[in-house]
Amino acid sequence: MDYSTDIRWRFGQIVTTVREYVEEQMQLGFLELEENENQLRERTSSYADLDLTGLRELAVACEKCELSKTRTYVVFGAGNEQADLMFVGEAPGADEDQQGQPFVGRAGQLLTKIIEAAGLTRDQVYIANVLKCRPPGNRNPKSSEIESCEPYLIRQVMLIQPKVICALGTFAAQMLLRTDAKISNLRGHFHSYHGIKVMPTYHPAYLLRNPGGKRQVWEDIQKVVAELDLSTPRPNDS
Ligand code: SF4
Repeated sequence: MDYSTDIRWRFGQIVTTVREYVEEQMQLGFLELEENENQLRERTSSYADLDLTGLRELAVACEKCELSKTRTYVVFGAGNEQADLMFVGEAPGADEDQQGQPFVGRAGQLLTKIIEAAGLTRDQVYIANVLKCRPPGNRNPKSSEIESCEPYLIRQVMLIQPKVICALGTFAAQMLLRTDAKISNLRGHFHSYHGIKVMPTYHPAYLLRNPGGKRQVWEDIQKVVAELDLSTPRPNDS
């Protein structure tokens, strides 16, 4: 092997090693490819002039994906529009679809307890989902549905400008952080979404099936409480 061939071979080895390292870090949730501001603006350009009222009016009439055919109500979001803390879940369930409000079923009741354990009320936070319409039978969202719907959430975040977003479950965390990493790897430490701190944690619906996860959610919420400098909460023993 002559000198130039050797250099090219070594360079190729370095590129391969770096690529493998980046892929591994992304899988573990330690590295996310954050969209730049231009990409973000481009994806929400149709909504750039809308405030939350205008955005809601657009969403409730939305037919951008097939979920519009099976929904009862669009579940836009609810809460304090100047909230420091925003919760983002996956999609409405059956109760939410019937009432047009986020997190009102059993999982919602558990979320309310989590919020209250943090020393807050639902009126002090903002709650929304990645998808605004219920997937039939609570199936997982399709990537095409997420792509169609996420500009609503992105614009909501841009307008509310919370200090911290608590991403509930896999889909919310993966969408915000542009990663395929598992929620078990993402939870427990802060990530960044365009300068806003994001704490991924388990979805309350997961906790209903796996109560053992409550301790980890409580640890995550305590970090959020400390970040927001709220008064010291008491553990949720629900
Ligand atoms: S899920 Fe989102 S994109 Fe699809 S119809 Fe509902 S509001 Fe529109």
